[in-house]
Amino acid sequence: MNNMLEIKGITKTYNAGKPNQIEVLRGIDLTIARGEVVALTAPSGAGKSTLLHIAGLLDVPDAGTVTIAGQDMTGLGDRRRTAMRRAGVGFIYQFHHLLPEFTALENVVLPQLANAVPVAEAEARAMTLLDKVGISRRAQHRPAELSGGEQQRVAFCRALANGPGLLLADEPTGNLDPETSDLVFDVLMGLVRDEGLSALIATHNHELAGKMDRVVKLNAGRVVSA
Ligand code: ADP
Repeated sequence: MNNMLEIKGITKTYNAGKPNQIEVLRGIDLTIARGEVVALTAPSGAGKSTLLHIAGLLDVPDAGTVTIAGQDMTGLGDRRRTAMRRAGVGFIYQFHHLLPEFTALENVVLPQLANAVPVAEAEARAMTLLDKVGISRRAQHRPAELSGGEQQRVAFCRALANGPGLLLADEPTGNLDPETSDLVFDVLMGLVRDEGLSALIATHNHELAGKMDRVVKLNAGRVVSA
């Protein structure tokens, strides 16, 4: 099984049958091999977030299948989907969404506790990740005490805490100034390569897209180049 993600015939319409119906995805086919990093580019509103949410099991398509690490997720119950989402898929958003009352370390430890990892092991894994992104010295700081770039680095570590095989990211550095964005994006790519992940990363930035293995464009609900 050489593919980490296989998406076939995905369609999604919001407000189906109503006057404000929006046909966002009209039959998406996309395959990501193990260890492959793919850029997802599209005009705003073209359905990037919708596709990422469906691929990450946060939303369900109207039709089509999503297969992750060889497991067809179609029609699975909430428990199996949640288990895959928790351990098999890492998600990064444009905004860090860290828990403000917890330290950087705790933010990376918590998803592992939810996955029944013992505390000492979870802390060791969290420190390893924070070290890889160059902020282990900030482990005891809360999000409000960190810069935007540092907050996003912690969010990368949190997404990878449970050792997923697949990373999905929605404009992961879109909230940062251009210089910080480039730097933090390189940190993310280093982490992705180091962990041997497959990834689908949405970005508006063509220079960043060019650093990935392949670029996929969405237009009018379809993949127009791959
Ligand atoms: P992108 O990430 O490419 O900007 P999105 O996937 O967020 O695009 O949105 C695609 C289209 O679907 C947009 O027109 C958006 O307004 C619409 N949309 C997204 N989510 C919903 C929703 N929950 N209900 C209705 N329309 C939605």
